[in-house]
Amino acid sequence: MGFEDTYKHKPQIKESANARVNLIGEHTDYTGGYVMPTLLKFKNTIELSKNSEKQFVVFSEYFNEKKVFNDFVKSKYSDWSDYIKGCFFIFFDENKKIKLEHFNMYIKSTIPLGRGISSSSALCVSILKALNTYFNTQMNGRHLAILAKKVENQYIGVSSGIMDQMVSSIGIYGKAFFLDCLNLKYELVSFPSNWKFCLIDSEVQRNLRSSSYNDRFSELKIAEKELAVEYLGGVEINKFDTDKISSPTVIKRARHVVTENYRVLKAKESLLNDDISQFGKLMIESHNSYSKDFEASTKDVDDIVDRSIQCGALGARLTGGGFGGFTVSLIEKDKFSNWYKKINKFYPAEKIFEV
Ligand code: ADP
Ligand code: MG
Repeated sequence: MGFEDTYKHKPQIKESANARVNLIGEHTDYTGGYVMPTLLKFKNTIELSKNSEKQFVVFSEYFNEKKVFNDFVKSKYSDWSDYIKGCFFIFFDENKKIKLEHFNMYIKSTIPLGRGISSSSALCVSILKALNTYFNTQMNGRHLAILAKKVENQYIGVSSGIMDQMVSSIGIYGKAFFLDCLNLKYELVSFPSNWKFCLIDSEVQRNLRSSSYNDRFSELKIAEKELAVEYLGGVEINKFDTDKISSPTVIKRARHVVTENYRVLKAKESLLNDDISQFGKLMIESHNSYSKDFEASTKDVDDIVDRSIQCGALGARLTGGGFGGFTVSLIEKDKFSNWYKKINKFYPAEKIFEV
């Protein structure tokens, strides 16, 4: 299958966007703090042509399913086509002068879905890129990222931050993407030659993830309200006044964010100084905070992290929104084959992905 087999003509536009792994900085994006993801090779590709029959026809290779629609009304029960409708809705809403056109679309993806490496952002960013090219609307990468976030926040109803969309839209493969989520300023930082990151899939269900994610989002917004700050990201560790927060659970959630922001800054410094052991230590601290204070880990994930370190990784942590998904480990390149041999005894090759 492919675009031409499905629609019997060639596509007019082809655009893609990559998935990402967050190296450090979890739930610090929508709290106005710092994050540091990097792009993965996995990517989503969109092919597009005009549809003259006033229909939107979309085929997803992953679901091996075609959807046809005429309006942008969200499905009653969540459906993958909602992401596509949401992108059209937000794009045309942003560009009100553009006359509505209909499209044939083919979606090809190598990204594992629902595993915390943000297939949804790569999908939305690539669709918006394709529409931007088709209509020559000249929106820059930052603008497309903001629109892709709107699709998830306003149309789908996920309370996510801007990290995924920004790195997917602007990031460069092979560089760390340090982002200040408050002003959207970013730096692309090179990796030292002896560093290697590797993912291990914990294969945990998705449903529980999105509801717990939204719970954590609300808890952090309570902390911001009680501390009377606009964003937790602006609270320094020594000024974090837990007496102002009424619930012990909310204190723990907020402490994760306040300490995590500090770790992201230190991690960037370690990268610039080629200090692999400090970066590794920060990843371990980040995981402990994510697991104990934020309670976003699972037993299976904690086991992967522990085993990876026992097998020789300098750092390892759960990455993404939490409650399962991928873990990321940092290994010295010349020790990588040794680490791989050991970890492969616990987890099959299909679950291990080199970055
Ligand atoms: P993640 O972003 O971590 O992969 P999400 O739950 O946020 O997980 O997004 C996954 C959802 O995005 C899928 O259930 C589907 O609705 C949509 N999606 C992602 N990639 C594709 C694709 N290739 N084809 C159709 N829908 C997709
Ligand atoms: Mg997502």
